[in-house]
Amino acid sequence: MSNTATTKRDIEITVNGTRLSVLPSHSLIQALWKAGHPAFKRASCLEGVCGSCRIMVKQRGQATVEMALACQSEVKPGMQVLFPQHLERLAPSAQARCYSLQSSIPPLQQLREHFPEVAHCRHCHGCTVACPKGIDVEKGVTLANEGALSAAGELFINCVMCDLCTTSCPENIAPNYVALFARRTTAAHQPLPGNLATRLQTLQRGELKIKY
Ligand code: SF4
Ligand code: SF4
Repeated sequence: MSNTATTKRDIEITVNGTRLSVLPSHSLIQALWKAGHPAFKRASCLEGVCGSCRIMVKQRGQATVEMALACQSEVKPGMQVLFPQHLERLAPSAQARCYSLQSSIPPLQQLREHFPEVAHCRHCHGCTVACPKGIDVEKGVTLANEGALSAAGELFINCVMCDLCTTSCPENIAPNYVALFARRTTAAHQPLPGNLATRLQTLQRGELKIKY
């Protein structure tokens, strides 16, 4: 549905440098959806990944710019929003590293090899401030650097991989990928749950029956 006609209930916001009239009392994602704005399709769950609606937002009258998720942000008059296609240009390399969970190399040594920048954390709090899920990201990086990989991974259980912490880091640390490594390596060094082990054995023996 297009919302080109401004009504008394409309409020004005700026999205990627363009003025836009949207309905109040909606999340930014809902408002853009109803307005038929193209940013919605690219920066929403429709992209298939939770966390893809990350934004930088400056509210009217505030001097600071905040990181947020558009699905959790209510539209407010005068807000200025920058969406991912612009944000990605600011992001440092956050690509997943190539490591083996079957490696005989101790996990901490693997962390040092594949994420050497973790040791350079400045404890500037930037990643924690940026996280829209309220995760103590800096603490997670510190724990990982100290070798407490299980505890580090646990901290990120609500992470939606929006990359906002990575974007904020002056040392090009990608805390969410460090946490992913921590969770994966912790799980890889624990025995499989009984039902999963049984199912895998069934698969390996070719005994899994699938009904169509
Ligand atoms: S830890 Fe990073 S990637 Fe995960 S939700 Fe927070 S800011 Fe987003
Ligand atoms: S933003 Fe980077 S340097 Fe700053 S505390 Fe977080 S991980 Fe450390």
